[in-house]
Amino acid sequence: MLQNDILLKHLSNVMDPELGVNIVDLGMVKDITYTNSEVTIDLALTIAECPMRNQIETEIKRKLKLIENIEEVYINVVEMSKEDRSSLMTIARKNARDKAVPTNINSRTRVIAVGSGKGGVGKSTISTNLAVGLESLGFTTGLLDADIWGFSIPRLLGIEGRLEANKDKKIVPFKKGGLEVVSTGLITDDEDTALMWRGLMLSKALEQFLFDVEWGNLDYLVIDMPPGTGDIQMALGRLLPQTELVVVTTPQSSAQKVATRVADMAKRSFIPLLGVVENMSYFESVDGNKYNIFGEGGGNDLSKKFGIPLLNKIPISEDSIEEAENGTPVLLQEKETPTKKAIQDLVNTIIKILPPVSDETCTGRLAKVLEELEVEV
Ligand code: ADP
Repeated sequence: MLQNDILLKHLSNVMDPELGVNIVDLGMVKDITYTNSEVTIDLALTIAECPMRNQIETEIKRKLKLIENIEEVYINVVEMSKEDRSSLMTIARKNARDKAVPTNINSRTRVIAVGSGKGGVGKSTISTNLAVGLESLGFTTGLLDADIWGFSIPRLLGIEGRLEANKDKKIVPFKKGGLEVVSTGLITDDEDTALMWRGLMLSKALEQFLFDVEWGNLDYLVIDMPPGTGDIQMALGRLLPQTELVVVTTPQSSAQKVATRVADMAKRSFIPLLGVVENMSYFESVDGNKYNIFGEGGGNDLSKKFGIPLLNKIPISEDSIEEAENGTPVLLQEKETPTKKAIQDLVNTIIKILPPVSDETCTGRLAKVLEELEVEV
């Protein structure tokens, strides 16, 4: 008579293709019964119409039929309870962390990715100002322009220089004030090899930016994501598991709909959602009246849908954007405007939700002790 643990062992070779963890560890096998040459499995899926259902069922049957004496495999699909689903996500998230290859980003660095459903909603403007704001408050901050094909960070920061490599062939971030900046827009293109290098960069850009850049010991890394969903977002969840996503949208429902896809995809890539920023929310006149030029509700709806905070609403700025387009981010401009104040509030809110990882954690203290010991030796 076959033991259930033998069956479980075989079932633990069946992976959930989306989560990359086996179905036993994910708690998907609820019950196994075995009579004569027949096995019946109760299989819990996150949703009963899971698109991976066929693949998982076929794989279970194939694996179990490899066992001697098993001729028929029946599968009853049940839908997971809310608790089961949340524990499955915890396991999958832990798995993604355990598998992560160490990058050049310190594991204590807070990583904030800024994404949007489509271009033109102010994603790069928010990323740039967030990075500048964090840096101005004294945090060591990096800004990575992962919008490889549509980079705009160099322009928004008024950088005309180029990235250089150090003697270890690592790329050194461009220093703009105290901010460490990396963007494909800063890659030299006046050498013969540059084109080839650029080709390489484009195909594995994110990996190169995380592995081949000599990032300092950052408190925060802000990443300006390409608009929409795609490989870079998936890779980020895998390579930098500490990433949290800020979704930028405008008040229109069309923008909110595409932003929903980004938030959905982030969840599937195990990237926690930090919150929503509604940009170009309203126009505030000098007498303090607010006008909802682009409609209203997009940010609120998105935050409700995903149960995440609406971090702030940023008003439309009439006068400060021209200066911003020429290389001075709103936060660094002298004029006090409602847009500047809202962006500063946004930075403060983010620091409150995601404070820098303090040195006073157990590992932080331990690292300090070890450093001191090394000095003495
Ligand atoms: P994305 O990165 O989403 O493509 P950008 O940050 O490049 O968007 O912004 C698109 C355009 O909108 C730019 O010209 C930018 O200066 C402008 N913009 C962004 N935010 C605001 C705002 N709050 N008020 C007015 N114009 C804005």
